[in-house]
Amino acid sequence: MPVNKSYYRTLINELQKHDATLVAVSKTKPVEDILDLYAEGHRDFGENYVNELNEKYKALPKDIRWHFIGHLQRNKVKVIAPYVHLIHGVDSERLLAEISKEAVKLNRNIDVLLQVHIADEETKFGFDKAEVIDIVKNIKAGNYPSVSVQGLMGMATFTDNTEKIQAEFQSLRILFDEIKNTHGIPFKILSMGMSADYLYAVRSGSNMVRIGSAIFGSRNSN
Ligand SMILES: *Cc1c(COP(=O)(O)O)cnc(C)c1O
Repeated sequence: MPVNKSYYRTLINELQKHDATLVAVSKTKPVEDILDLYAEGHRDFGENYVNELNEKYKALPKDIRWHFIGHLQRNKVKVIAPYVHLIHGVDSERLLAEISKEAVKLNRNIDVLLQVHIADEETKFGFDKAEVIDIVKNIKAGNYPSVSVQGLMGMATFTDNTEKIQAEFQSLRILFDEIKNTHGIPFKILSMGMSADYLYAVRSGSNMVRIGSAIFGSRNSN
């Protein structure tokens, strides 16, 4: 399926009104599709699988900002640590420690988001809200050098119930504001919203959406 450029252009205009950044989720899609959007001036792309990301990184222009949005295994951190722009799905302190270790080795700062579990589904990874506040305190205490936590990431329940989706996004927005205001952490990024639910997300205060199938067409696997 070809990249839907007219949808992309409309989406960019819509997101500008909300000051939200688009991460174009290119997982399972060929490098040609990424180059199609690159030619439109797009630079932020999201991938879920380390090996796939690494192949694309090698093949594609070096000014692309690569977002890792999948579930990251600790033993794979070193593969993407040299070039990854933002790791969205940090969901354990052991992972945070591993990212910090690699970042220190590389003498490079790595930006991350903490993933918060806001959905009903068991399958979605992430911290609960109390854990996030604890971790934020540990980060503030300097426990994870060379890692900058830029904010939070969350995924809503996969459902037609739009009120439920909005309530979940709003709960993450409230936590985001609380950490900023009460704990004095300069959070900047609230990553929430995908093809089906991004409008609810930006209306709830998301400033980074991760959109794949609406731009690139549906995926066969997964
Ligand atoms: C695949 C994926 C997306 C994009 O989903 P679409 O429904 O194709 O827009 C966004 N976020 C995460 C974490 C994903 O795994």
